[in-house]
Amino acid sequence: MLNQSLCAMDISALPFNRTCLDGYFELAIPDKDPGGDGVWVLLQGMCMFTLRGMPEQLPSGECPVPPLAGSALYLGQWQKKPCRLVEVPGDTLLPATMEPHHLRAAEQTLSAPLSSLGGIGLMILHWESTSRYCGHCDGKMERLAGEWGKFCLQCGNHHFPRIHPCVIGLIVRGNQLLLVRKGDWATGRYGLVAGFVEFGESLEEAMAREALEETGISITNTRYLGSQSWPFPSQLMCGFVADYAGGDIELRDQELCAADWYRVDQLPPLPPSRSIARYLIDRASQLINR
Ligand SMILES: [Zn+2]
Repeated sequence: MLNQSLCAMDISALPFNRTCLDGYFELAIPDKDPGGDGVWVLLQGMCMFTLRGMPEQLPSGECPVPPLAGSALYLGQWQKKPCRLVEVPGDTLLPATMEPHHLRAAEQTLSAPLSSLGGIGLMILHWESTSRYCGHCDGKMERLAGEWGKFCLQCGNHHFPRIHPCVIGLIVRGNQLLLVRKGDWATGRYGLVAGFVEFGESLEEAMAREALEETGISITNTRYLGSQSWPFPSQLMCGFVADYAGGDIELRDQELCAADWYRVDQLPPLPPSRSIARYLIDRASQLINR
């Protein structure tokens, strides 16, 4: 019953998914830059900048950090204006008129469209930084015409942006959820079993392996619910719900410091609401509590 109700969820509107950008932004490619003034996506580490006191307003006009204007990448159209991305080095001081917003802050200060735009910016910067040289021959790479992909000037191989599939799952036993905690998470915060897909695995197989490897728990009836783009730095989180099939909790993953079953009316601190983990936990709790 819970499985069926969860399968009816619409996850597409979570932050970082493109649905959030409908009506705001259309992604294009750098060689389609129409020229002229526009708006700026300034990213310094995981911080994105808006005008101070105006968290809805991207800087516009001249590049706020003029020496970086030459490195700007055209991203597409933000509210019908050219939108360009600039990576700001960590030691660069921005004008006082700019206000930073951390894209992973516990309390998000940006709207879903702006944080989603920032997420795309992070993914693109990650691609740019990892695609300077060819993985085959170490030759220099250049962008393919009309693509975000690149080609090697030396051996000619083509390379395209890499998005890594990950699984994340709600594991249910009656009115309890299996929650885990990693040592480097905020104090006391719990989340869901998750991990990268490995060679030769389906998503469902990856989910079963992660559950067993992390917690010693076997699962069954694994159902896909939806996915979320996760730009930290370049993942696609594929969300599942599964039923407990057997086993006792046993911490087998060194990254984890705790795992336990929690009744949905007695949950510990949870991840921020922008994440698919929190979305799944909240929806499951509502359905179980009904
Ligand atoms: Zn090469």
